[in-house]
Amino acid sequence: MQFNSRYPTLPSRLYHQQQPLPLKGAKAGHFNAALADELQWSNEDKAQWVEICSGQKTFAEFPALAMVYAGHQFGQWAGQLGDGRGLLIAQIVDQHQQTIDLHLKGAGATPYSRMGDGRAVLRSVIREYLAGHALNALGVPSSNAVGFTSSTQGVQREKLEPGAMMLRTSDCHIRLGHFEWINQYQPDLLPEFTQKCIEWHYPECLKAEQPVLAFATQVVQRTAVMIAQWQLVGFAHGVMNTDNLNITGSTLDFGPYGFMERFRPNWINNHSDYQGRYTYQQQPSIGHWNLWTWLNNLIPLCPADDDQEQWKTDLAQCLAHFEPTFLEHYKHGLNQKMGLPSFHKDSFDCAMAFLRILQSEQLDYTQSFIRLQHKDYETIKDDCLDRRQFEAFLTQYERIREHQDTDELDAAMTAVNPHYILRNHMAQKAIELAERDDFSEVERLFRLLSQPYTRQTALEKPEDLAPLPSDVPEVMVSCSS
Ligand code: AMP
Ligand code: MG
Repeated sequence: MQFNSRYPTLPSRLYHQQQPLPLKGAKAGHFNAALADELQWSNEDKAQWVEICSGQKTFAEFPALAMVYAGHQFGQWAGQLGDGRGLLIAQIVDQHQQTIDLHLKGAGATPYSRMGDGRAVLRSVIREYLAGHALNALGVPSSNAVGFTSSTQGVQREKLEPGAMMLRTSDCHIRLGHFEWINQYQPDLLPEFTQKCIEWHYPECLKAEQPVLAFATQVVQRTAVMIAQWQLVGFAHGVMNTDNLNITGSTLDFGPYGFMERFRPNWINNHSDYQGRYTYQQQPSIGHWNLWTWLNNLIPLCPADDDQEQWKTDLAQCLAHFEPTFLEHYKHGLNQKMGLPSFHKDSFDCAMAFLRILQSEQLDYTQSFIRLQHKDYETIKDDCLDRRQFEAFLTQYERIREHQDTDELDAAMTAVNPHYILRNHMAQKAIELAERDDFSEVERLFRLLSQPYTRQTALEKPEDLAPLPSDVPEVMVSCSS
């Protein structure tokens, strides 16, 4: 590994140095060898992946540390939070010369654990491991993981579950909530911290006349693009608190997330989210709210020669980029999924008509786009109670496509419509087997989800392609992890 140990160069008030506390009886779960190669792991590191992914081997080049941050959780100020069960154990350079954080989740209690035990259970580790992998393969910016380990140590949740650790990778673990913590508790750190964020993550902004405004605009835009991509693949993050969004717009800390199956925009995957704050359809507006909350933390950075009111207006102007950026990416992506030309004035309307059918007929989001791509219109219609609604849509759809280069549109559809997403029942099956030390289903899903846009008949099972029948109770996903 090639280290770039930069976070420990920040003032020590921003973290607590400590070593991981290994679990008893650590054992191999799954290893992402391709990712280890991208991260330039040596053969020796690869041979020791179980020791690294279980906290038994740490690195002299990097003092492991828990970061402190704060946040707004479910719309309320939550005060100080921080890494309560994860440690940054290394920052290394990958084969693209990008610095990547290695964060060991489940590594034991820290000063920021509050009431928690500092541990993670195998169930939630597998869910995060497979989802991170799936999102990356889908082309959605996200954390990933080099590997995870299980153990013989029980961890108490609603029931006793096997403890586990996962070695998460991300281009950034600096959350919107870092700025909230600094402003609330150590405001003198704000200028230096912001400067480092810009140098590390947005160096091109240093050249701007107002680097802070350029940085803020970039964060707003990247977050908007990320959320547009979530909407397109039907991903619901589940806990979009300000401590779970980072400043590079790559998906982080998705706990009770879900990939949507039947199209229900107001669907709540997280059963602890009683108000439905983080439903699929709310994600764009919650992203906007989180960024607005975050931008308020940049007010003290008003340059000395600037007018305060003007500075606030300028910061608000950064947020004005959110909606157009989101819509541009979402509309273009949806038109691609539909096989419709983005320049045609009726394309987006037609796409919306299709989504309304999916919603009213409760059809599977992923599968319906694949059927549309295969021009399997009869099968979609057969699943509709209101066949006339579908026929009306199809007439408009075919009319828009009539004089277009359909080969090109069809090629775009193939590139953006996945065959495979991680359905809750797929993850559940893999978890149940893994809890009995059988990781074969994790391995099968890992391979299947590596190439979501390619049909892999030899590897797939029928239930990978469809939601469970509507009379089978859904897998309940709780916040406990
Ligand atoms: P989350 O919403 O899962 O991102 O977690 C919110 C906060 O709670 C973070 O600061 C976590 O580090 C902390 N946390 C969650 N679970 C635990 C646990 N089992 N032990 C200690 N801290 C935890
Ligand atoms: Mg979190």
